[in-house]
Amino acid sequence: MNGDDHALIHMERLSKIYDLGEVHVHALRSINLEVNTGEMVAIRGPSGSGKSTLMNILGCLDRPTSGSYWLNGQDVSRMSPDQLAGIRNRTIGFVFQGYNLLPRTTALENVELPLLYSGHSSRHSRQLARETLESLGLGDRIYHLPHQLSGGQQQRVAISRALVTNPRMILADEPTGNLDTLTSLDVMSVFQQLNADGITIVLITHELDIASYAHRVVVLTDGRVIRDQSNVPRDARADRTRLAAEVGEVPDEAD
Ligand code: ADP
Repeated sequence: MNGDDHALIHMERLSKIYDLGEVHVHALRSINLEVNTGEMVAIRGPSGSGKSTLMNILGCLDRPTSGSYWLNGQDVSRMSPDQLAGIRNRTIGFVFQGYNLLPRTTALENVELPLLYSGHSSRHSRQLARETLESLGLGDRIYHLPHQLSGGQQQRVAISRALVTNPRMILADEPTGNLDTLTSLDVMSVFQQLNADGITIVLITHELDIASYAHRVVVLTDGRVIRDQSNVPRDARADRTRLAAEVGEVPDEAD
């Protein structure tokens, strides 16, 4: 907490029903969830438990059917799509499983884009994008295209793009889903470092292992929170080093 008098995320009796005419799918049922600034929370659950639905609502990409969602002190549950887009751009940095980088665009340009969209000068955007990529160990890869980078490096570019606008939180949806174990640990160590630097991280995952790197684990089943517990997180960097030694690999992506 940094002295804020409100939670960054506050959901109360939040439900989402998909209306398919004959059938109503209760994807989320009366979710109560509070996340404070500075937390690193994993939201875990099996396929179909409601994670994507919750992620879309947390990320202001969709609205709940009922209940309330306060984000950074503002009731966003009834906002229009335009208002949601504004809040989203100011508050949240997204990281996705498939990186979602523009393919024929360099790492630097990918990271600059959100700044240019929000009206920053190209000079300022370039500078900030470069610094952010450097801070994630990609200083020598800024002119590479996504296909010239490894999966882990692409995800670091995506994390840089999420960070460059200085959001209140990072919302990561299965960020290690496409990566091998060593590279997943790389990415988790990046998140742990960012969180140690004070950035709030909400991580959606179906993997028990990945959730074990968060300080708190919320478990969803059938659209309900069935568990919400603090966790002593594993150290991703230490695990990465240990595993690399076991498999005899040079840790080329850990900086
Ligand atoms: P998860 O991400 O954990 O796999 P989802 O949020 O995708 O879970 O899905 C939760 C439930 O809502 C599932 O039963 C799924 O079939 C249903 N669902 C998800 N999206 C839609 C949609 N757009 N329309 C109808 N049903 C949906």
